[in-house]
Amino acid sequence: MTKRKAIFLDRDGTLVVHVPYLNSPDQLKLLPNAVRGIRLFKEHGYLIIIVTNQSGIARGFFNEECLTFIHERLKDMLEKEGVTIDDIYYCPHYRKGAVERYRIDCDCRKPKSKMIYDAAAEYHIDLKQSFMIGDSETDMVAGKNAGCTCILIKDTEIHGQNSVSGIDADYCVKDLFEAAKLFAR
Ligand SMILES: [Mg+2]
Ligand SMILES: [Zn+2]
Repeated sequence: MTKRKAIFLDRDGTLVVHVPYLNSPDQLKLLPNAVRGIRLFKEHGYLIIIVTNQSGIARGFFNEECLTFIHERLKDMLEKEGVTIDDIYYCPHYRKGAVERYRIDCDCRKPKSKMIYDAAAEYHIDLKQSFMIGDSETDMVAGKNAGCTCILIKDTEIHGQNSVSGIDADYCVKDLFEAAKLFAR
């Protein structure tokens, strides 16, 4: 069986506008060019898998049911634009959280790579042919340690050059479409 290639995608600040501890579907707003980028990657055979830290669950700001509801809406929004994502992995943990069952020092919270490894096992993904795309250093570390090529999303015209200094990424682009134009071929 041949292995698949995937785009591991951070959610907040990469696919949707970053809202701290986003806890309602009404706060979801797709970032410019996100849909175009995903569409192009899909056309070139990439699986699209979201990997997202959601410590708001451990902190007691919202629960897993709420997160599932938010993710259903996100999938609907994308489907209305004609793109489907293949799966969403999330980490609900935080080692200093308020909710006991999530208060652990887990292996899934980025910069750790367990969500990527779990997806790779489930979907038979070749990590060397795959990309981690995100807007923070933790995304880049998680992707790098898993053997993926790492793409940082940062519009330096808006955020300034300092926003990317010190972050070890393979590439830096302003949005998902720019990323897809580089690699979906
Ligand atoms: Mg992010
Ligand atoms: Zn976790």
